[in-house]
This record gives sequence, C-alpha cells and structure tokens, in this order.
Amino acid sequence: MASKNKRDYYEVLGVSRTAGESELKKAFRQLAVKYHPDKNPGNSEAEEKFKEAAEAYEVLSDPEKRKLYDQYGHDMGASAGFGGFNFDFDKFTHGGSFSDIFGDIFGDIFGGGGGFGGRFGGWGNNGARRGSDYRYDLEISFEEAAQGVEKQIEIPVKQRCESCHGSGAKPGSKESTCPRCNGSGQQHIQQGFFAIRRTCPECGGSGRVISEPCPDCRGSGHRQVNRKLKVNIPAGIDSGQRLKLTGEGEAGAKGGPSGDLYVVIYVKKHEFFERHDDEVVIEVPLAFCQAALGAKIEVPTLDGKVSLKIPPGTQPGTVFRLKGKGFPHLGGVGRGDQLVSVTVEVPTNLTKEQREILEKFDNTCPMGKTYPRQNSFIEKMKSMFGS
Ligand SMILES: [Zn+2]
Ligand SMILES: [Zn+2]
Repeated sequence: MASKNKRDYYEVLGVSRTAGESELKKAFRQLAVKYHPDKNPGNSEAEEKFKEAAEAYEVLSDPEKRKLYDQYGHDMGASAGFGGFNFDFDKFTHGGSFSDIFGDIFGDIFGGGGGFGGRFGGWGNNGARRGSDYRYDLEISFEEAAQGVEKQIEIPVKQRCESCHGSGAKPGSKESTCPRCNGSGQQHIQQGFFAIRRTCPECGGSGRVISEPCPDCRGSGHRQVNRKLKVNIPAGIDSGQRLKLTGEGEAGAKGGPSGDLYVVIYVKKHEFFERHDDEVVIEVPLAFCQAALGAKIEVPTLDGKVSLKIPPGTQPGTVFRLKGKGFPHLGGVGRGDQLVSVTVEVPTNLTKEQREILEKFDNTCPMGKTYPRQNSFIEKMKSMFGS
C-alpha cells in the first residue's frame, strides 16, 4: 500500500498544498472527466491516471486523511500506526464511499443517476460494502507480556455530528438559496458541441447552502471521535503477534459488515531479561570471591526476587536453571524456565594491603590444583614446542 514510487497527491491533482475543498474537487473533476475509462476504452494508461487521481482525491478531500498524509506522506499507514488508506479499485467499483463523490461528479455528465455503466457496471448505490480492516500498534512491557494484561485503546472513528444531526448547519441557523445555481442544484456548461448539466459544486445539488456552519463539526456533518476499546492480551504473547478484534474495524456501508481490527503487539526491551521463546535469560555478575568461595545471591525473576546458591569454584559462563520461572506457554499449560548465566568480575582498584593479601594467596597456589584449566593449557603448549 505504501509505495515509494507513488507520485505526490498534490502533484497528481496539480494543486498547491494549501488548496481548499472546492479547488481539490475542481481539479479532480477535470482529471476524472479526461481519464474516465468510459471515455478511454482499452486505454490502460488513462485507467491508471484515473485511479491515481481518484486515490489522491479520496485522501486529500478527507481532512483527517489529509492531515496524516501531510505529516507522513505515503508511509502514513505504518508511521501513524493506524489504518492506512486501504484504497483499492475494487472498493470504488463496487459502491461505498466513492459513490458519493462520483455520484456527485458524474451523475449528470454521464447520465443515469448512479453508477457508471459500461465496464464499471457493478458500481452503484445499492452495493453493500464491508468496512476496511484497521491496524493498531500496541506497545506493552515485558512483564505485561509475561502476565497478560487488559489494555484500553482508543480508535479514531468518524461519527455523525450530534449537534447538527449530520446536516453541517449550525443548529437554529437558516439555510439560504445557493448563489451559484440559484437554487436549481444544477449547472449548465457548454463543452464543445454539447451542453451538459452537472450537479452544482457549491451546494452539491441541494440548491441550498449553509450560511452558518455547525461550530462543532465545522460544517462537515461528522466528527472524529475516539472509540475506547478494551483489549485482553493473553499471557505469553510476543512481539509481532497480533490479536484480531472481529467487527471492530471501519463500519460497513449500506448494510455491509464491519471490518476487523488487528492489534499488533510490541514488547518493550527489559533492563535485565531477555526472552528466548518461552525461556527468560538473564546474565548475573558474580564477585571474584563469590565465584571462588561460593555464595547465596539474589536473582530477579518475573515473580520477584529468588535466592540462588552459587557453589564454590563456579566458572564464568555457568548457567543455572530456575524451573518454571520463564514465560507462560501461550495458549497452553505451564511455563518455560529462567536461565541464569553468570560472569565473574575480577577485583579492581586494589589497596596496597589487598594486593599483599592476594600476592600471599597466589604464592600458596599449586598450579595444577587451583587452576586446572590454565595448567592443562601450559602442559599442551610445552608438548607443542618441546620445552
Ligand atoms: Zn455539526
Ligand atoms: Zn448550487
């Protein structure tokens, strides 16, 4: 959907970035009339141009989509973490939001109140349309992924403005006769040999214009509201997994079913823990003396702190397994383990006294017994070089 090769929508329509609603509509209408497939049968280049213009118009004529586009460009679906435009040709050949646009623009020019006829025969005003699927990216903490969590999310949806009941007129304000068409709702244009009628762009064919737009929806008749939804995230979920909320996507049109909402999970990195499948891995530094003498240390787990016995002579890289302290098996029973991998920290910043103690200690070390690995290394090297 987000393609790098796409032309800029403003460029496609040949308008400036500040173009208003009527300017956009005019630009699109011109292109649509020029490239309409009924006028260019079998011309795939014209068809592409037509689609391109329709897509640009769909986005730029919708204030919310336009805002996203201005901010994120063609990548807005991914960057905004939401929706994307889901534009596809099928959608507007089978009715839906496009029927409003095209009904208005082509209704009169091409004769026949709804639908294009010809190769766009399936397109009309009575086709039920399924709503688009939405995507919502949700970040959760490592602990939340382990324990499961209920999250509230907000999905922006378009709703009819309650203040004006969708009319766009300020409640109590009067509508007046459209000055452009004098209330007929039609415009007559001479184009070549033909005199054509078209719907008045000023009033959309109603013959009336709103003198005072509804302040709550700025005359659009609808408002963007945030729908709150609860999402139950099961314990054991991992980054990249998605939850499907059936029917929580865009509302369908004309009796069509709603789309679905996909919640894609991102699990934040943890300061201590790393996840390998259902095992939790942690690296713990031991003091040199703890490793040599043995110790009882505290280790963080998803369930809180637990104590772990370190036997004397523990080497760096040794891994201890804490049974059942890992991630729950998603959709199954039981949990993975936690693996504790130890490193050994060599003492630094020694005082003179400490140094003397260590030197004294070192003098008491019979090589083969205290340091068997180093001893065997030296023995092998001797046999290699013969001395
Ligand atoms: Zn309103
Ligand atoms: Zn008018």
